[in-house]
Amino acid sequence: MVAAAFSYLRVYSLNEAVRALSDHGEDAKLLAGGQSLVPMLNLRLARPSVLIDINAADSREPFAADGSLVLPALTRHAQLMASPLIRGSAPMLSAAVRHVGNVRVRNRGTIGGSLAHADPTAEISCTALALDATVTVLGPQGERLIPVGDFFTGYLSTQLEPDEVITELRLPARRPRRGWSFLEVARRAADFAVVAVAASVEVDPGGVVRDARVGLACVADRVVLADPQAVASVVGTVPTSARLADVARAASEAVSPEDDVHASGAYRQRLVAVLTRRALAEAIASARGARAA
Ligand code: FAD
Repeated sequence: MVAAAFSYLRVYSLNEAVRALSDHGEDAKLLAGGQSLVPMLNLRLARPSVLIDINAADSREPFAADGSLVLPALTRHAQLMASPLIRGSAPMLSAAVRHVGNVRVRNRGTIGGSLAHADPTAEISCTALALDATVTVLGPQGERLIPVGDFFTGYLSTQLEPDEVITELRLPARRPRRGWSFLEVARRAADFAVVAVAASVEVDPGGVVRDARVGLACVADRVVLADPQAVASVVGTVPTSARLADVARAASEAVSPEDDVHASGAYRQRLVAVLTRRALAEAIASARGARAA
């Protein structure tokens, strides 16, 4: 199909984007990489009367500041994989993005677009949740910071107001003895995930777990943290494999994924148990030295 007619407006700063959104109201849509929006236009699932192209609005590269890794919203998926800064400071994000679509999608798609689209299967959102990231948004009243855990409000929906633009994703600085693992099952390479799991674990010099977070994709209407109480039960311990299996089982019992054409809910639940156990074990092993992050 062909998109319905729209006007096209190119903006040259993020403030100009906010002004344009305020002027045009809910009839307007921001255009970043176009990898989710353009298919939706073509299928007429979205019919904005104005497209506001933000590709020339911010030329900043990713940078480190105030103990955070700052990823401007227009950072392309391919940059997340290739940038030495991101590979060094947030290696789980670089690894997760390898699973996003194909090379064409990764060359155009942006981190801001992926967050705003709020797909519950999105690897970037799932990883941002495990890394306890913060989304920076700009609106007519100025900037506000939203923890990723609060950002998604449902299927393809977020806390973003119609006149707000995502400007950055901020990740906490890399800490010593923090390990990670990103695991995904998809039917074919480049397909959307059936289930994806992102685990981030910090241990002390004695190998005792000090912090653990696990993000899950494809199990609810948004990306979610795996049962935080069960995951927190490994904090202060040197968990055995049996303990990790118990945590993973609890995480799987806490979600109720739906059936779809790709997999049944029961199969997804089983994957949550298997992948969470493996991801926690891998993240702990990497925190102990095999692969610091
Ligand atoms: P756009 O398509 O330009 O915009 C998407 C939405 O976000 C629009 O509503 C737009 O208005 C809004 N938006 C964009 N930027 C901002 C901003 N800065 N502030 C506020 N709102 C904004 N994704 C995955 O996660 N995993 C996959 O496996 C995967 N596979 C794919 C396979 C194919 C074939 C395709 C076409 C896409 C796939 N995607 C996948 C989606 C891809 O990751 C998209 O790039 C991403 O979801 C949207 O980013 P974008 O920059 O292209 O945003």
